[in-house]
Amino acid sequence: MEKEAICPVCFRHCKLKEGQSGFCRGRKCVDGEVICDNYGMLTSIALDPIEKKPLAMFMPGSMILSVGSYGCNLACPFCQNHEISYSCEPDPEPVPMRYVSPEELCSIAMSERPYGNIGVAYTYNESLISWEYIRDAGRLVHEKGMKNVLVSNGTCEAEILREILPYIDAMNIDLKGFSSSFYKDYLKGDLDQTKEFIKTAAACPACHLELTTLIIPGHNDTEEEMREMTGWIASLPGGEAIPYHISRYFPRNKTLDIPATDVSLIYGLADVAREKLKHVFTGNC
Ligand code: SF4
Repeated sequence: MEKEAICPVCFRHCKLKEGQSGFCRGRKCVDGEVICDNYGMLTSIALDPIEKKPLAMFMPGSMILSVGSYGCNLACPFCQNHEISYSCEPDPEPVPMRYVSPEELCSIAMSERPYGNIGVAYTYNESLISWEYIRDAGRLVHEKGMKNVLVSNGTCEAEILREILPYIDAMNIDLKGFSSSFYKDYLKGDLDQTKEFIKTAAACPACHLELTTLIIPGHNDTEEEMREMTGWIASLPGGEAIPYHISRYFPRNKTLDIPATDVSLIYGLADVAREKLKHVFTGNC
């Protein structure tokens, strides 16, 4: 009988036949087991200001070595990083990548210390589809006294987050909207799983948490939705103090027909968010 396995990482729980890749394209069934196929396959590596992650209240003014691979478990039509999120073999022109072991990543991070580097940020594509790489590299980075930062869409089982939480010092999680239909129909995601993930992160006092919403005109831009979303954030442990970023969208990927978000809309929604939250930041304005 042909071997098959179920991936435990996100709500999709892809049931994969031998050799088949999951929806995210970063995990694959090999020898009857779902493995991380993009482990250490880096498509991007750059020393960025920490504010670019975005993190506004975690070691401000520092730099962080930021790395990403390929693959994503959502299908946001407006993806701002679609060149790497949706590109891999056997695409006709896959994005260039190279294998960087956890040991090599750690030594690159160390070599960037004289330039202000504080550690490693796992970002650009959906980082948690290769959570095993974060666990292995994160452990080494901690052993060298540096920090790990996770940037994620929060579409992941809470047990997976618990596996890596001991190595994560700060994270920024997307909360892309607050309607189940927006998540399900527009992003091909699951709002409930994202909320559960954020709840788990907020309950971890050792890890600094910030949240981000990209405002897409006509999709997640009403004051009512912002009030409901920030009310829920404020109800989390320490929720009122969670730094919250509201970002301006630009046309990308499959949404070239939707114009960039009006700056005045972003500022207006930020004022609504401030009714419930103490630290609200606007981005890309
Ligand atoms: S992480 Fe990827 S392979 Fe696993 S369930 Fe999610 S989409 Fe499927």
